[in-house]
Amino acid sequence: MDTQQIIDPRSLTPDHRPLIITFICITILSIPFVHAQHQNNPGSNHGNKFEQLGTLLSDPNVYRTASGAPGHQYWQQKADYVIDVEVDDQNQRVIGSETITYTNNSPDPLSYLWIQLDENEHKADAENKKFDESSLSEQMTTNQLQSLIGGDNDLGVKIQKVADGAGKPLTYTINHTMMRVELPAVLKPGAKFVLQIEWQYNISDRMVEGGRGGYEYFAEDGNYLYTITQWYPRMAVYSDFQGWQNKQFTGRGEFALVFGDFKVNITVPADHIVGATGECRNYANVLTAAQLDRWKQAQQADEPVEVVTLDEARQAMKGKATGKKTWIYEAKNVRDFAFVTSRRLVWDAMRVKEGIEGHTPMAMSYYGPEAYPLYRPYSTKVVAHTLKVYSKHTLPYPYPVAISVEASNGMEYPMICFNYGRADKDGTYSEATKYGMISVIIHEVGHNFFPMIVNSDERQWTWMDEGLNTFCQFLAEQEWDKDYPSRRGPAHKIVDYMKLPKDQLEPIMTNSENIVQFGPNAYAKPATALNILRETVMGRELFDYAFKEYARRWAFKHPTPADFFRTMEDASAVDLDWFWRGWFFGIDPVDISLDDVQHFQPLGNLQDAQTTERQAYEKDLNTVTRQRNIEEGVNFAVEADTNLQDFYNKWDRFEIDGENQKAFGQYYQSLSPEEKALYDGTYHFYQLKFSNKGGLVMPIILQWTFADGTTEIERIPAYIWRKNENEVTKVFAKTKEVTAVLVDPLRETGDIDEDNNAWPRQHAPTRFELFKQQQGPARGESTGPNPMQRARGGG
Ligand SMILES: [Zn+2]
Repeated sequence: MDTQQIIDPRSLTPDHRPLIITFICITILSIPFVHAQHQNNPGSNHGNKFEQLGTLLSDPNVYRTASGAPGHQYWQQKADYVIDVEVDDQNQRVIGSETITYTNNSPDPLSYLWIQLDENEHKADAENKKFDESSLSEQMTTNQLQSLIGGDNDLGVKIQKVADGAGKPLTYTINHTMMRVELPAVLKPGAKFVLQIEWQYNISDRMVEGGRGGYEYFAEDGNYLYTITQWYPRMAVYSDFQGWQNKQFTGRGEFALVFGDFKVNITVPADHIVGATGECRNYANVLTAAQLDRWKQAQQADEPVEVVTLDEARQAMKGKATGKKTWIYEAKNVRDFAFVTSRRLVWDAMRVKEGIEGHTPMAMSYYGPEAYPLYRPYSTKVVAHTLKVYSKHTLPYPYPVAISVEASNGMEYPMICFNYGRADKDGTYSEATKYGMISVIIHEVGHNFFPMIVNSDERQWTWMDEGLNTFCQFLAEQEWDKDYPSRRGPAHKIVDYMKLPKDQLEPIMTNSENIVQFGPNAYAKPATALNILRETVMGRELFDYAFKEYARRWAFKHPTPADFFRTMEDASAVDLDWFWRGWFFGIDPVDISLDDVQHFQPLGNLQDAQTTERQAYEKDLNTVTRQRNIEEGVNFAVEADTNLQDFYNKWDRFEIDGENQKAFGQYYQSLSPEEKALYDGTYHFYQLKFSNKGGLVMPIILQWTFADGTTEIERIPAYIWRKNENEVTKVFAKTKEVTAVLVDPLRETGDIDEDNNAWPRQHAPTRFELFKQQQGPARGESTGPNPMQRARGGG
């Protein structure tokens, strides 16, 4: 019995004895043991999973501190815009002119500026059309075929003027979606430069070309819906951590933009309704008296009020105004500006009276008749709900409005976002469409916080906005309805992704353009990791404080991953380097296997111990004797028994003599009451052996089921793996006998193989059975990159 541990307290004198208890392994509850595959550190149990991130993070400096906060010399550039734009509804064309005032707050002299021309992604010779893979399938649409053939499509930005503030032309060079403007003199630190740009472009058919902005044509009424995004030449970011962020826009990695103030004059057909980033300054000139009155009502309303009614939208859809109107908008401290314009829009609005400290912003929605059955009851209320939940977990929503526009997609801009959710022709809709719509509205409105306010560089790190936002989206969904069918967030929902072959995976810390499985990698995995961090690793109190601190520190600034990682530790005193290393820098999955369970019980008195010890000794001796007899080919059983008897007659090593009894009596009397209780107690000791088959170190969460039917959950910190990343053994003391042990009982770690989690072994239902069990109401498609949406440019 090699698992038996027998220590004889009689061998020590009472004065020098620690409390020593005799153990005996009552039963061996062994699981067929399969050795862990040590894929990660072949030949070594002690790898670097718990080492500090060190050089994986950028060095702290005067701009970004080692605590993760902005440094005492933190700076960022500023760009203020005054723009005149007209949307030509006859030719589907944007005609614009802008004056940019650029302030160089950096310590560096600049000799040129980089400006983004995103519409060039649609040009026939755009880089992405060349380097994106393509293939033929048996059935193809004419549009798909046309995109393979190519040819000039007359899309892309036509720059008509680039000049300084006095109108003097400036030299510029266009490299696909980036334009370098030469400065006439070096722009010194602290100095401003004014430049003027005039441009035009043909608006692309968003439903065909894809992309985030464009038009949608409604053949049944001959009208257009324009979602005008990334439409003006925009300043690129110049930063302390990267210099100019001038990586090309190819349709995937989103935007790195500079904060500033906007004044935008939007000229559209007189019968159009406009919704935009910021506040409209001239509703009195563009709305009817009745609409203006309803707008005033809405500002005091706690239920959505139709500022433009369904009847008014239907009426407008029947004709085409010949005149024009100019809507004047202003927005302060935003990093971008977008708008919607169409004659087929209903507009409802209400104030968000409570739940956002110090603010009562307007929640608003714009939608066509086909979305009315869904958007009228839900959209604006979801906007308000999102602002409240996100404000609670980050910072109070600071902007005056938040708008949800139905545009059959999902894409975000400051204060305005574009979502989906249309009813069927008869006005009905499925639960899936409804939940999908609510999720996409929460998600896109949520982007106001990440990255519109906490402004990470989307072109580099998609997870910093999509991952953090999808995590908050999950919180908002669960607060909307505790049974909400959230698609991303719960740990077990990441399993299918994490168990993919390694050549289909890449770390979360991968550039946006290079991600293979965009949705799972940049949305679901970071959101799940943060959910696990909150629920399983840090606990809600520590997590929520640190997460809020990150949002507060970096509101209206440009954080990097290091700033996030550092702040979460700095504000919580939880060493998380192992967590970032595993979840964000690695591709290993979680698979903790319970390999072995052994049950030990201390013996209540010395007599029992001796009896059991004697039996064990006799058995061993007997076995040895019989073995020898068999080897010699002679049956010496009788002789052996006689020999044994003789042996005991001469000397019994287990005999309790007076000396022994006296010693034990003294020893027992020397124990404290607590020690006596422990000695006489009925503890069951379980020695469990685990192996880390997946590679990603995680806390071990155990559920004990006792003989009396009760259960207990016990949590072992991930640090248990710090000296041996592959195998660990740990003993647990229980007052009741255990009948079953289960690893990760609440499915909170994303363990990819639950077959090895249980003792006694219980095989998880097959996928087919699981599917049957889950049948019920259809699950809503949430936001973002399902393939269809991504093709249209989801956000
Ligand atoms: Zn998003």
